[in-house]
Amino acid sequence: MASKTAKAVGDDEATRRIRALGQRITVLRVAVLRTLLEAGQPLSHQEIQQRVENQEALPIDRVSLYRNLEWLVQMGLAHRITADDRVWRFSARRDQEAPPHPHFHCTRCGQVFCLVDASVAIPAVPSGYEVKELEVVLNGFCPQCGRHAADTTLPREEAQSSVTASRPS
Ligand SMILES: [Zn+2]
Ligand SMILES: [Zn+2]
Repeated sequence: MASKTAKAVGDDEATRRIRALGQRITVLRVAVLRTLLEAGQPLSHQEIQQRVENQEALPIDRVSLYRNLEWLVQMGLAHRITADDRVWRFSARRDQEAPPHPHFHCTRCGQVFCLVDASVAIPAVPSGYEVKELEVVLNGFCPQCGRHAADTTLPREEAQSSVTASRPS
């Protein structure tokens, strides 16, 4: 859904979101959040770094990027996804009120998607455990790869899910 005005709109949006939390506006915070907002799907550290450097013309080192991403996650402006390829990916949080959503990891093309319209029920846990975070990652083929897979001799789509719930600290 990128348009020619995406950058200007994203600029306002990223700045507005950070300001709404009463947090300090910095060039990197805005650039990283804007990159996530414009991407519309989760990105790895490396992809974010490339986009910030190419699109924002901002050189950024790994440590600064890591710090800024952690900050966005802490502030609830972004969420982190751990797919089974052990690569962390980050996505802008669309709506703070929204229920947790599952993520889909395509095992063919390696992309990860936020399935924001699919809700996830938090499993009942024994008393004494407090769920702080719910992460559901579904593995399989995305629509694009599923279409191509039908033409080949690959086995049927496998779907697995992994659920992690953190214990109280
Ligand atoms: Zn795919
Ligand atoms: Zn997501």
